[in-house]
Amino acid sequence: MSQKLIYEGKAKKIFETEHANELMMEFKDSLTAFNAQKKGQFQGKGKLNCLISTHIFKVLSANGISHHWIKTENDNQMIVQKTQIIPLEVVVRNVLAGSLAKKVGREEGQRLSCPLVEFYYKDDALNDPFVSEPQIIEFKWATETQLEKMKKMALEINQILVPHFIKAGLDIIDFKVEFGINSSREIILADEISPDCMRLWDVKTKEKFDKDRFRRDLGNVEEAYQSVYERLEGIL
Ligand code: ADP
Ligand code: UDP
Repeated sequence: MSQKLIYEGKAKKIFETEHANELMMEFKDSLTAFNAQKKGQFQGKGKLNCLISTHIFKVLSANGISHHWIKTENDNQMIVQKTQIIPLEVVVRNVLAGSLAKKVGREEGQRLSCPLVEFYYKDDALNDPFVSEPQIIEFKWATETQLEKMKKMALEINQILVPHFIKAGLDIIDFKVEFGINSSREIILADEISPDCMRLWDVKTKEKFDKDRFRRDLGNVEEAYQSVYERLEGIL
């Protein structure tokens, strides 16, 4: 199979495949935080994120969400539909944490009265700034219709995943998703959903099982990612 590397990011490598409408996404063992100012890695991290993402794409498929995942190979490689990525990080929050807790000067942990959807402009050089919906339309990062579609899909994804993760004893505090436009001009969920881009707290103990263990030097990063995988596979 001819595979040409077309992009290497912080967490994944993207290869062309012999099919013009498909890409191969290889998950790396590296971990980065604070826009790659902090770097780390552990062996098997790429595989865990790929398998956790695979599990989530399957759950979303069963619930009618359109996404880019086609199949997973060699545990750390996915074949996905090629898309034109909409340059926005779409964040859904159920519980106050991270940058929003900092912004409003409150402790993490307060449950929000309803899930919030926020948009950040995907640009490492600008540190992925928070952007308003009028700004998104003004700068043509997405149209109003696309914005509405992404909000609806992000909330549906949340509604599907929250009860699923509860079965695994994990509370979804917040997560980030990306959307792309495929060859049929349809907006579909792209990229990955893994502990790198979600906050997951144990339902009972509130212990963290996500990238905050790395960001905040809490230790046992590998064990946490492994546990997320085992808990999810345990409920199928
Ligand atoms: P980053 O670019 O932030 O360092 P990654 O290392 O995860 O992040 O790189 C993966 C890149 O692939 C991201 O830029 C993401 O937007 C892009 N991507 C994810 N899914 C698709 C897809 N289906 N089609 C095209 N690009 C994609
Ligand atoms: N997130 C992400 N990539 C980013 C920024 C945020 O995956 O570039 C995820 C993050 O892991 C968390 C959620 O989006 O689950 C909300 O992140 P927040 O805005 O609180 O920023 P943080 O404090 O994590 O940088």
